[in-house]
Amino acid sequence: MIVLLHPGADPRPIEKELVNAGSGTRRVRDREQLGVEALPPHPPLHHLRPRLQSLPGVVAVLIADDPLPKVTSARGPVEVADFLVGDGNLTFAFGPCAVENEEDLRLCARAARSAGARLLRGGAFKPRTSPYSFQGLGALGLQLLRRIADEEKLAVVSEATSEFSVGEVAEFCDLVQIGARSMAVTPLLRSAAKCGKPILLKRGFGATVDEWLAAAEYLLDGGARGVILCERGIRSFENGTRATLDVGGLALARLRTQLPLFADPSHAAGMRPLVRPLALAAVAAGADGLVIETHPEPSRARSDGPQALHLDELQPLAVACRAVHEGVALCSQSWPKTTLKQQSSASPR
Ligand code: PEP
Ligand code: MN
Repeated sequence: MIVLLHPGADPRPIEKELVNAGSGTRRVRDREQLGVEALPPHPPLHHLRPRLQSLPGVVAVLIADDPLPKVTSARGPVEVADFLVGDGNLTFAFGPCAVENEEDLRLCARAARSAGARLLRGGAFKPRTSPYSFQGLGALGLQLLRRIADEEKLAVVSEATSEFSVGEVAEFCDLVQIGARSMAVTPLLRSAAKCGKPILLKRGFGATVDEWLAAAEYLLDGGARGVILCERGIRSFENGTRATLDVGGLALARLRTQLPLFADPSHAAGMRPLVRPLALAAVAAGADGLVIETHPEPSRARSDGPQALHLDELQPLAVACRAVHEGVALCSQSWPKTTLKQQSSASPR
């Protein structure tokens, strides 16, 4: 890594950052141009890029062979409808697994709104494991989502399952979801990147953090208006839960990129009593937002009923998550440097 400076700029703050991260440094000069080089072999430094770029006097941060240049240099919150995601506030997306009918969706939207959610979620095109399961209402589902979200002054997120439906989903939604099963479908990623709406990118349940970030790189490289990453649980040998919420992966992603990070504890838990502890753990690990399924009467939900929260559970959950979020923000004021040092001293495998 080489950090290029404006002539006359002070290199010491850059050197300090690099040394704190466990790297050696050397000043390099080419005529008027001064640079600070991280001395090899140095620990992984990609996560430092946004921070270094924001220091006074920095012209550019050059990283040789960075496989994810756009993901590692992406900065700042993502604009969804008329609000920002990842601006330091916790964002909630609440709603049913699938849009089933107008009445139930309205009840979900009202409960989401009163619990402080900004987004109404709901599947219109459902990627189901069995071809005989309810596949969603399709275009009608999108229309219902839009109308009811507008009534309740919420934004809408829904999944696009193919490159052929992504335009239609983007027309009705403020945030387009790419689901876990589609995370690595590059034609879909390429189309979604051009849909004009920001993307919520779920992590595939068999994908490493690097593969997940590479999918985000496809979106950014294709011109996506913004990308929010969402951890939703990965496959492990544990079969007591539906998936294993990877809080370590969430924290690792936070080190690699400044893109906003969401977690979906519902699909990881697979059962109602686990949603709350997983939600709190995700917030503690650095999530900027949560996607949570809910239903007015989970026992008659047409999909994912066992993990759907009752509507009156949303408000207390949101309060608890906000408390953890505030606690984490307070701790991190005195924390970042230690965290970076510890991370860089871990030996690479
Ligand atoms: C969903 O959010 O509706 C969904 C199907 O999630 P995932 O892609 O994470 O399984
Ligand atoms: Mn679901």
